[in-house]
Amino acid sequence: MTRYVYDFTQGGREMADLLGGKGANLAEMVRMGLPVPPGFTISTRACRAYLTAGALPAGLEEQIAEHLAALERSTGRRLGQVDDPLLLSVRSGARFSMPGMMDTILDIGLNDLSVLGLARVPGRERFAWDSYRRLVQMFGSTVMGVDSTLFEKVLATIKREHEVADDTGLDVCDLIRLVESYKDLVREQTGEEFPQDPAEQLRRAVLAVFDSWNGERARIYRRREHIADDLGTAVNIQTMVFGNCGPDSGSGVAFTRDPASGHPGSYGDYLVNAQGEDVVAGIRNTVPLQELERLDPRSHAQLCGYLRTLETHYRDVCDIEFTIERGTLWMLQTRVAKRTAQAAFRVAAELADEKLISPTEALGRVSGDALSRLMFPRFATHGVGDPIARGVPASPGAAVGVAVFTSAEAVRRALDGESVVLVRPETNPDDLPGMVAAQAVLTSRGGKTSHAAVVARGMGTVCVCGAEGLTVDVGERRFTAAGTTVNEGEVISVDGSEGTVYLGSAPLVDSEVMRYFESGGQEPTADASPVVGAVHRLMEQADATRRLDVRANADTPQDALRARRFGARGIGLCRTEHMFLGERRPLVEAMILAETDAARSEALAALLPLQREDFTGILAAMDGLPVTIRLLDPPLHEFLPDHTTLAVRVAERAALGQVPDARDTALLAAVTRMHEENPMLGLRGVRLGLVVPGLVAMQVRALAEAVAERKRAGGDPRPEIMVPLVDAVEELRLVRAEVEAVLTEVSQETGIDVGCPVGTMIELPRAALTADRIAEDADFFSLGTNDLTQTTWGFSRDDVEAAFFSTYLDKGVFQVSPFETIDRDGVGRLVRIAVTEGRRTRPGLQIGVCGEHGGDPASVHFFHDVGLDYVSCSPFRVPVARLEAGRAAA
Ligand code: ADP
Ligand code: MG
Ligand code: MG
Repeated sequence: MTRYVYDFTQGGREMADLLGGKGANLAEMVRMGLPVPPGFTISTRACRAYLTAGALPAGLEEQIAEHLAALERSTGRRLGQVDDPLLLSVRSGARFSMPGMMDTILDIGLNDLSVLGLARVPGRERFAWDSYRRLVQMFGSTVMGVDSTLFEKVLATIKREHEVADDTGLDVCDLIRLVESYKDLVREQTGEEFPQDPAEQLRRAVLAVFDSWNGERARIYRRREHIADDLGTAVNIQTMVFGNCGPDSGSGVAFTRDPASGHPGSYGDYLVNAQGEDVVAGIRNTVPLQELERLDPRSHAQLCGYLRTLETHYRDVCDIEFTIERGTLWMLQTRVAKRTAQAAFRVAAELADEKLISPTEALGRVSGDALSRLMFPRFATHGVGDPIARGVPASPGAAVGVAVFTSAEAVRRALDGESVVLVRPETNPDDLPGMVAAQAVLTSRGGKTSHAAVVARGMGTVCVCGAEGLTVDVGERRFTAAGTTVNEGEVISVDGSEGTVYLGSAPLVDSEVMRYFESGGQEPTADASPVVGAVHRLMEQADATRRLDVRANADTPQDALRARRFGARGIGLCRTEHMFLGERRPLVEAMILAETDAARSEALAALLPLQREDFTGILAAMDGLPVTIRLLDPPLHEFLPDHTTLAVRVAERAALGQVPDARDTALLAAVTRMHEENPMLGLRGVRLGLVVPGLVAMQVRALAEAVAERKRAGGDPRPEIMVPLVDAVEELRLVRAEVEAVLTEVSQETGIDVGCPVGTMIELPRAALTADRIAEDADFFSLGTNDLTQTTWGFSRDDVEAAFFSTYLDKGVFQVSPFETIDRDGVGRLVRIAVTEGRRTRPGLQIGVCGEHGGDPASVHFFHDVGLDYVSCSPFRVPVARLEAGRAAA
């Protein structure tokens, strides 16, 4: 008989696949001896069986009944009994925490009779009815599908009639009326009575959790987070404890360290006389944990002790949910906490300092993505004016966008390319699409643990929440703050690091982490922010750990210098094409249009000194480090004017009866002659060098003379010449002969040895497949994974991304664009072949990668695994690549 149900005493955190995150961690806390209300978990296996078959698997209901009976025995209460009934919570809990899933249902087991039994206990009358109305509302909306705002409307009406600000102001009579109104609402909306049988309540709640796995919100969330669709969710059934029993009760959320800044010391929000959902929903304003110390010092001390125990046990920052029932503390949830990028770096470095984790483990706790978020600009501190509102800095970063008030509007405007800020009183899972579309989320209610804050942090979206000065009018699509009214479509600026909101578009400044890298990664001074210190320590750790070298793709001395400051150990790709643009265009045109060898030589000779200067600058900037120069790659017509523009110009002159402009006519003829249907696969790269006489020789001579000049000046230039788009070893052999002839010539002329390695790009499938042959004539390989991806998939990069990639991502053909993260199965296979075959011919052959993938975290790990020597990426990605290379080797 398949086992589907596990008591909390039977599990542990290692069973998260089966018990879901929540269930596994509840069991772990039981194992650690922390006070957890007893209960049991229905496994994800049961959910998968149910979703596949469309019916509960055989044996499941019996197993639930057995565990329920055991729970009744151990608590001495029975579900549905009138006197002091057993009440349960039914809590969803997938392997990965998913805000898109069904909410928890509390107080299962109450009905018209048991509520009276519960109310009979002295002093518990109000609490009993408060719990019952919560049950009808939660069950009515999440299980029976009644629109939750209808319940809120009924509640708001009653509150208004009694002129009370929040739920705690309602008395017993109000609550009894409220329950009746809620039940009427359920009947009107569904044609069904609110179920009175506790067993039926339980069964339907479990099914609703299972079904919520395939709900729309859950599916959207999974797609965004790359979570597989077939994992299923677990269901936790747990004895209720009550935070809504009066002033000595309450409910809260806590973190072992501040999840926004990483600041050490516990951090949290507490709400007196409330059930947990109230804290997260941001319905009432919470008090900080310090306040609990005043209200209930014993529980507070106990809680702080548990927080320390948990952090030591999990060896990481944890968040917890807790409830105090009449002075008794209960732990309801824990997990390793989501955190901001700042907090991730700070916590990792400090846990390593505290010796709770090892330095290499600390690398595992941060990521290149988090690092790149820290490198984003922030708002300037001057010249932004006064904030119109302040709230809780819930997810850092700076964003400017137009205010919108509904999820749908956010999605609509974002599709039009607008940058939007979603402004809501509070958010709930229905707002998820809008939060995904928005640059920032701003709410007037809720703390760092509200839905808005948690979800935004998870997505790296800027968020300010609980901005109490803000009055949001969703109906009128506007908010007012500090006497200013902001209508939908007006621009605001949101600073999620400071918790401030500004009118209009605020100016941005570099981040402190960016300044640290710009200054060359110097040991930070004592007064530097703790985040910079943490980044520095972790970067040093990464550099000490990694086996991959990191170079940069840079075409100018400025870029080369920046790359060096950012820690690049050379240039992996110096493109020479931009050197042919700008004011040099006429010379390039002359070369292309030349009708005689003499005319062409003259044009090339004019270009030569300019190229030499380019190379001298770059070699000087990268003195002592390798610089891989790629010979001209793009098709020549890219250097000529646009065909249509030219044709129109020539035709206009003709129409006016003017003499045709000889130059235009010649250019037009050349453009027409060189027109290619498919230039990406046309006359470019090495093919160009073989077809246009003198082109390679000119480029190589310019480089060689630059090298001689640098050496004469006492420099240490280390060029590598790279031939693009090679298909066959014969191409390389021909070009190589020409290159070497020029190098020898210049060496003789100058008396300085300008010899250097000559290698090739591997960027066509044929090259990868014949890498053993190509290695005979190549001193090094550089994998051009952009072209290799284009040619392996047969995707034109310039066309397909806009045309159909979003459909492909939706339909699951791939989870991420192969131009962003290397496709391990296909392109990666060719890479492996090239590496193995190339090194078979030439042991120790130097192999690097210079495509965009060189700066992509997931791809860096692949390149490490394959055994490359280095990755090369844009200067700004260099720190990310260094960190990820360290992580890959850790
Ligand atoms: P989520 O995954 O959305 O956090 P939970 O299952 O943790 O949902 O439930 C939300 C809140 O409901 C909890 O934070 C807790 O305050 C309350 N809750 C859940 N189970 C119980 C219980 N057995 N007793 C009291 N409160 C509970
Ligand atoms: Mg929870
Ligand atoms: Mg290429």
